[in-house]
Amino acid sequence: MKGAVLYGPRDVRFEERESPKIVEPADAVIRISLTCVCGSDLWPYRGISPVAEPTPMGHEYCGIVEEVGKAVKSVRPGQFVIGSFATSDNTCPNCQYGYQSSCMHREFMTRAQAPMLRVPLADGTLVATPEVPPADLIPSLLTLSDVLGTGWFAAVAADVQPGKTVVVVGDGAVGLLGVLAARQLGAERVIAMSRHPARQQLAREFGATDIVTERGADGVARIKELTKGVGADAVLECVGTQESMMQAIQATRPGGSVGYVGVPHGVELNGEDLFYTHVRLHGGPAPVRRFLPELIELVWSGKINPGKVFDLTLPRR
Ligand SMILES: [Zn+2]
Repeated sequence: MKGAVLYGPRDVRFEERESPKIVEPADAVIRISLTCVCGSDLWPYRGISPVAEPTPMGHEYCGIVEEVGKAVKSVRPGQFVIGSFATSDNTCPNCQYGYQSSCMHREFMTRAQAPMLRVPLADGTLVATPEVPPADLIPSLLTLSDVLGTGWFAAVAADVQPGKTVVVVGDGAVGLLGVLAARQLGAERVIAMSRHPARQQLAREFGATDIVTERGADGVARIKELTKGVGADAVLECVGTQESMMQAIQATRPGGSVGYVGVPHGVELNGEDLFYTHVRLHGGPAPVRRFLPELIELVWSGKINPGKVFDLTLPRR
């Protein structure tokens, strides 16, 4: 089979690789229906994170179970499944506490940008849909594997509640789905910080009530203006730079929370400054597995259509 391999900055090759097989009894092998590029793939692609050796790419996936190992009980061949970018047994203390992306037996997935994929810990990682979905539902189901799961976690980590005012920093796919998540969780006002007209449009479709185009100190000033000088109850940080993190913390009201899911690149916080903000920080790699059953239901019933974030589709080869 052929799969995507990153060799270095802007050097992606689609090349022959060995087809995956069952290695451990808890494994499944799935035939990928759809996969995509993650924002976190862009750091090595742009040369900001070094690439030490040719690296198979891809950790967002869904597809049909082809084969399962002897120990697998919860999924079977022929089912359509979605898994997280992090594997989990879903039984250890961290999993039971809802932090499956900190599973004691976690592996980060890679190699999903290929026709076939081996998924370790299949029982604790994969969730099957009620039936094999129609083709038009598959892009939305794919987003549950990472991008919507991550935006959702940002909203949960920021403690979005009914009636609250939420700010979303970052208008990439995660930020846009953070807007969707905030609305689903009942936020009354969702302020999207975005400079791109097409993304502003989608943010509005997903439920943004306000758009702020300013950034940095000007962006924070604008949020303060919109919240009577107080700041937002909940802020979703979906970028991972020093500027976006500071923008998020400073846009939050004392006692409010920042949910941060942008993989930090060079972010440094000053303890004393943080102390006086009275802001709660919670984030990390999203425990996507926690949210999969609920999010599958929302997509399946047509209540949300997160697949709209995809703006380029490439043919199967
Ligand atoms: Zn675990």
